[in-house]
Amino acid sequence: MQPLKDVVTEDGRYSQTLRAHQTLFREGETGDCAYIIESGRIEISRRLNGADHVLAVLGPGEIVGEMALIEDQPRSATAVALEPTVLRTLTREYLQERLQQSDPLLRHLLRRMSRQVRNPLGTPSGNPVINDDKDRNQAVARLHIAQAIQVGLDQGEFELHLQPVVHLCGGAPAGFEGLIRWNRPGFGYVPPSEFIPLAEESNLIMDIGSWTFDAACAHLRRLDSEGARHASQKLFIAVNVSARQFTDPRLFDVIEQALQKHGVEPQRLKLEITESALIQNFELAVSVLHRCRDMGFQLALDDFGTGYSSLSYLSRFPVHMLKIDRAFIKDVTTNASGQTIVHAIAGLGSALGMQVLGEGIESAEDAGMLESLGVGYGQGYHYGKAQSLERTLRYLDESPLAA
Ligand code: C2E
Ligand code: CA
Ligand code: CA
Repeated sequence: MQPLKDVVTEDGRYSQTLRAHQTLFREGETGDCAYIIESGRIEISRRLNGADHVLAVLGPGEIVGEMALIEDQPRSATAVALEPTVLRTLTREYLQERLQQSDPLLRHLLRRMSRQVRNPLGTPSGNPVINDDKDRNQAVARLHIAQAIQVGLDQGEFELHLQPVVHLCGGAPAGFEGLIRWNRPGFGYVPPSEFIPLAEESNLIMDIGSWTFDAACAHLRRLDSEGARHASQKLFIAVNVSARQFTDPRLFDVIEQALQKHGVEPQRLKLEITESALIQNFELAVSVLHRCRDMGFQLALDDFGTGYSSLSYLSRFPVHMLKIDRAFIKDVTTNASGQTIVHAIAGLGSALGMQVLGEGIESAEDAGMLESLGVGYGQGYHYGKAQSLERTLRYLDESPLAA
């Protein structure tokens, strides 16, 4: 029987209205969708020995006919509206689309549950909806890494290496960027690209963040006491803060705790945030940036030029430093349009009262070119890779002093 009304809602799903006593589907029909009851009531019944037996009466928020979402199979019961009833249709395609966007762990659990409903004895089933083994392996691997990160934080497997940030004029250190390294037993150094994105999906990134701020403040103390040649420069350490950390209300407590524990002034910490992280929640981000600034932290806009780079946004971000992404620096000595862009960013940054840094400087030629284009600060393998605190202290012994 045709429903009374059938409309497509904003999210592309169907909404339909049944009259009282109208049948939604009959036992034995093939179905390929389920329904969520928005209002009204649906009676579910089954024919047994020639008589109808009511199995359930379902109301708002409940789902009808969900087995059809797993595979084509005959409806196991009949569904009839007891009163005018509004339903939202859930198609298998819609569910699969949502599943594909979800976490592999969730996909795996859902599939296991649906397989148990379909096949309670656990005999092998063909025709998996999506790539079951791949999702399971991915889900298990991710769980293992997440657990290993947690253990690693407790066991001291992480190190905060420091990469020099220099004044391009003369090459003296201005500070360092803290880059996390995981010395995972049996795996060697695991690069951050292999665990930071995973940690960002959960609260683990907050644990990593607490650890990183603590390590940065501890390092600052040692730079002051053992790198005394540069003591008057008040070298900074820049800490990378990911989007999720940045909008977490605990961020300030975490930083305060680290500063107090090690007796470090807030001005010595720089927070590095990417433009794309700020854009995700613009108004909130701007207010957090202002709070950071009021508390005395330095702020740097990381990977500048790769995100949205809207000039109107930039003027609203109260940041001290723009870090031009390596993509613009890589071939700056040979690429004329790259030079124009870098020159324009440098001019814009200084017009807004910001320091401008070039990332990924790998040669003296890169450095010379950037300086001539108006960039004041540099960072890259030409000046040094990220290295342990011990090596950093030796680097400070030998590096030029700022004018
Ligand atoms: P990023 O913040 O853009 O860091 C710069 C990356 O470029 C670092 O990679 C650094 O080692 C590399 N690099 C520096 N100079 C050069 C150069 O001259 N040439 C080349 N080819 N590469 C250069 P790394 O250490 O692998 O870090 C990758 C990313 O991981 C970082 O990108 C940052 O987004 C993230 N990350 C690192 N440490 C942390 C952390 O403590 N917390 C958070 N949330 N993210 C972190
Ligand atoms: Ca960075
Ligand atoms: Ca960067």
